[in-house]
Amino acid sequence: MQATMQVIQGDITTVSVDVIVNAANSSLLGGGGVDGAIHRAAGPALLEACRRVRQEQGDCPPGHAVITTAGNLPAKAVVHTVGPVWHGGDDNDVHLLEDAYRNSLMLAEANNFESIAFPAISTGVYGYPKAAAAEIAINTVVAFLADHPQIRRVVFVCFDDENAALYRRLLTQRGTET
Ligand code: ADP
Repeated sequence: MQATMQVIQGDITTVSVDVIVNAANSSLLGGGGVDGAIHRAAGPALLEACRRVRQEQGDCPPGHAVITTAGNLPAKAVVHTVGPVWHGGDDNDVHLLEDAYRNSLMLAEANNFESIAFPAISTGVYGYPKAAAAEIAINTVVAFLADHPQIRRVVFVCFDDENAALYRRLLTQRGTET
């Protein structure tokens, strides 16, 4: 059976999935936007886990991802990925955003999880245009799901009306939203 893809408008910290993805910055030590919301909801255990990862691996470059426990969140784990800062849409911007989604999915799969929720990575302070980012997000996830049947459910969590409308339109066009 095909995996399901779904759009939810709201706060990713309340979504009930195995893994929630954090749009982190390279320091992994917390920030504003969705990163701040996730750390507030998860509590200090998450920051402690991020510090340990950073001690072992150093900064997390754009496009890469790491996995930690989820503290007080309903999820079982948090994947922290770093999206690109928008630099005008060159190929590198596109590839780094694709990598952020793909590497997050690979970590979820490698840790035997089946469901994952993404925020609209890079579309806040990193300035990626929302329409372009939504297309990259959905296309990258669809391509991954085709080859990786272990992932059964992907939730796109949109905070703002514009992203929610964009994601709904793209998934409806595909006929894949459930
Ligand atoms: P980035 O630095 O990758 O741009 P931001 O956190 O600034 O990360 O924004 C990424 C997206 O997350 C934006 O579309 C923003 O509206 C959204 N966002 C902010 N808070 C939340 C939240 N609690 N749940 C889900 N998405 C959120």
